[in-house]
Amino acid sequence: MSESNPTRSISAEDEVVDLCRDLIRIDTSNYGDHSGPGERGAAEYVAEKLAEVGLEPQIFESHRGRASTVARIAGEDPSRPALLIHGHTDVVPANADDWTHHPFAGEIADGCVWGRGAVDMKDMDAMTLAVVRDRLRSGRKPPRDIVLAFLADEEAGGVYGARHLVDKHPDLFEGVTEAIGEVGGFSFTVNENLRLYLIETAQKGMHWMRLTVDGTAGHGSMTNNDNAITELCEAVGRLGRHKFPVRVTKSVRGFLDELSDALGIELDPEDMDETLARLGGIAKIIGATLRNTAAPTMLGAGYKVNVIPGQATAHVDGRFLPGHEEEFLADLDRILGPRVKREDVHGDKALETDFDGELVEAMQRALKAEDPIARAVPYMLSGGTDAKSFDDLGIRCFGFAPLKLPPELDFAGMFHGVDERVPVDGLKFGVRVLDRFLSGC
Ligand SMILES: [Zn+2]
Repeated sequence: MSESNPTRSISAEDEVVDLCRDLIRIDTSNYGDHSGPGERGAAEYVAEKLAEVGLEPQIFESHRGRASTVARIAGEDPSRPALLIHGHTDVVPANADDWTHHPFAGEIADGCVWGRGAVDMKDMDAMTLAVVRDRLRSGRKPPRDIVLAFLADEEAGGVYGARHLVDKHPDLFEGVTEAIGEVGGFSFTVNENLRLYLIETAQKGMHWMRLTVDGTAGHGSMTNNDNAITELCEAVGRLGRHKFPVRVTKSVRGFLDELSDALGIELDPEDMDETLARLGGIAKIIGATLRNTAAPTMLGAGYKVNVIPGQATAHVDGRFLPGHEEEFLADLDRILGPRVKREDVHGDKALETDFDGELVEAMQRALKAEDPIARAVPYMLSGGTDAKSFDDLGIRCFGFAPLKLPPELDFAGMFHGVDERVPVDGLKFGVRVLDRFLSGC
């Protein structure tokens, strides 16, 4: 029932939960190759929901079954630059045996919608659909053009989704200067008078690396002072234990200032362990945005116990802060030493934008109107999203998928986690905020 506007039969709040459940039931598991079901089913579902309210969505298939949906909504003032709202429709795989409720059933239990993608990010896809459908049904145009993109393949780097569209169909994003997408806008309750909403204004960059040491192969029983495994393991050990220096970028500075203010304490970025412990689940993200990191993740060498191999390899997941890539690479080479050959297997840039301007003010206003104790604050994401592709088009990207969360929910742990779920109230809050945001954008 829609008491606020009796002329409409279905409101965004009415249908957001069903849209989210429907999307979860369309299995879009992304295994990082083309072995999964693909996103075609979700792309068609989204296109149908958009076409029902008069839009003309286009489906782009980058590879068999790997499809994204894009639509443009005409705004009141077509001379203004457009806003992009992007969400991915793929999800990481889930093993049903580990879950309390089946990951692709979209069940409702304990006040939450359960399933793979419930927070990453079929929730925001559903919120966007619900709000857009409501606005178009009731003839409420946004103040400027909005481009909607529901994208394939984000969970494997976006090659068959955002990257494909940016490279092959950049005209779709003509006139777009700003964007909102995932991993931001969620709440962290400080106390009964203050709830922070973390708006993502930056992302770390990435170097996934292969390390190789070539040594002298030989019999395991004989003297060998050039053992590739020994050399490599020493270097990997040094790297894995290394604590890179703290570097406070402007987004992290902004977050720490707000946190300091909220908690009423002085914060020393060099000594954050105690403060981070007070942040609960999000400490895992915030802690990783204070410095560059390099985590050894794979090792490979040898084929028989009495044979010293001629080569040993390791893989490392390296993440660098905006503005600190050169320093990171120089540190890596110094720590690894001259025996280790370092090659990139995959890399992506870091992003950072200022936490200011009319769009940020629109987010602040929308949050405050729905939650009087809300305060929007900037933060840096330790990982990456499709925003990295859109940044190539000069688009200023923010993470803003508004959700008011119960304090006890380990939100960061929901991403790619077992028993991923989103509160029903959170979804309804999200559509109210998004609707206000779209009116004021
Ligand atoms: Zn995601």
